Amino acid sequence: MTSERARVVVVGAGFGGLAAVKSLRRASLDLTLVDSRNHHLFQPLLYQVATAALSPADVAGPIRSILRDQDNVRVVLDTVIGVDRTRCEVGLQSGKRLPYDWLVLATGARHSYFGRDDWARHAPGIKSIEDATAVRAKVLLALERAETETDKSRRDAMLTFVVIGGGPTGVEMAGAIAELAHRAVSRDFRTITPHCSRVILINLAPRLLEGFPEDLSRTALANLQKLGVEVRLSTPITAIAADHVIAGDEIILTHTAIWAAGVQASPAAAWLGAEADRSGRVLVDGSLHPCGDARIFVIGDTANYPGSDGQPLPGIAPVAKQQGRHAAKAIMALTEGRPEPRFRYRNYGNLATIGRSHAVVDFGWWKATGLLAWLIWSTVHVYFLVGFRNRLQVGASLAWNYLTYARHARLITGSPLAEPAPHSFDPAKFEGEKHDRAA
Ligand SMILES: Cc1cc2nc3c(=O)[nH]c(=O)nc-3n(C[C@H](O)[C@H](O)[C@H](O)COP(=O)(O)OP(=O)(O)OC[C@H]3O[C@@H](n4cnc5c(N)ncnc54)[C@H](O)[C@@H]3O)c2cc1C
Repeated sequence: MTSERARVVVVGAGFGGLAAVKSLRRASLDLTLVDSRNHHLFQPLLYQVATAALSPADVAGPIRSILRDQDNVRVVLDTVIGVDRTRCEVGLQSGKRLPYDWLVLATGARHSYFGRDDWARHAPGIKSIEDATAVRAKVLLALERAETETDKSRRDAMLTFVVIGGGPTGVEMAGAIAELAHRAVSRDFRTITPHCSRVILINLAPRLLEGFPEDLSRTALANLQKLGVEVRLSTPITAIAADHVIAGDEIILTHTAIWAAGVQASPAAAWLGAEADRSGRVLVDGSLHPCGDARIFVIGDTANYPGSDGQPLPGIAPVAKQQGRHAAKAIMALTEGRPEPRFRYRNYGNLATIGRSHAVVDFGWWKATGLLAWLIWSTVHVYFLVGFRNRLQVGASLAWNYLTYARHARLITGSPLAEPAPHSFDPAKFEGEKHDRAA
């Protein structure tokens, strides 16, 4: 690599950043890919890790190995903390600075608790391997504790699982927990039976899967109910604590709440001094540039790019990948003195799975439900996984789980036992406190 070549810095090795880097594999450029983690993560299958169907290594791969054969890229493990647009430099947590001619920011998003960050402790979301294994530990530990609990009301609370959010992640999570709690573990326990567990999905919107047509939302609801999931629609959450959730007027006694309700973009807008929307996504122009800066592209979950209906494109992998490929194409055009193309999104469809054998698929011109949709969902997810070993392993695991209901990755890791089970919630005491607060 010589210093005369244009320097391209890509931040984030998720779907968007990796697509940009791979699309530049033949370009005569000095490419640097920075990520605060050493692995690329296939987030769409993360809920399978959280429900013990897959292991972390099935859904993640080391960035260095993925890019082993791409000679024009250097991988840097570090965290970006700022961008100096005047000097064209990226600031890293290690104190180093990376100069760029072109910069691609693909730093994704995190959970948003809509200003109630105190809920995060009791209702973790799943966005990283650590999140997924923490949720897995929480779910499995609840089953273990329930097995030896003699007090019925405490045992019921331990066996009540609440999922908050009715988008694809919430629907997938609720379906998978229902199968885990009702079917997968039933033969391994002696006291708790499949009928002891409750899975409740709470959604603020009046229907599930709002990004899908209404008939598919109804199908998803019916499929979840068939799996034994209780669904509460148009229901706001007003409190989440270690031993209960308050949803609408209902106090649900639970030790396991999981958050799948909202996202907040990475702080890229603050680094750039750029305008952002309410979710923190950087407003970008038709070529994915923020604040008119033609040297910078902001892509994927951290960008707000309006689709043909004027609404921001959804935070999904195909958007991030297409924008990553677009940024690469634009950089090649600009370095070769050709006019810069504008970004155009192609919607190839929407998929969500409900349990181990149902899904809904919307290709616009064609819709599918049931087993056929699940086969399409499985094929697409296995196909888009990075790495042949992962495809083989995940394909085999999905097939095995389908045939047997098995959950091979039922490992409680970390030190969750250090935190004792919450004490019993006393609704009468809560009502008293509520009354005192109001007075
Ligand atoms: C549980 C779950 C299920 C999902 N299911 C689906 C699905 O079924 N279908 C679908 O299409 N989409 C799904 N999505 C959404 C999809 O995963 C995202 O839209 C996609 O990952 C966005 O890609 P991205 O490149 O913008 O960001 P990401 O893939 O999130 O990548 C961001 C990268 O940036 C890195 N990073 C962040 N901040 C910094 C920093 N300061 N410095 C250095 N590196 C940094 C991160 O480590 C990460 O590697 C799901 C998401 C989740 C969480």
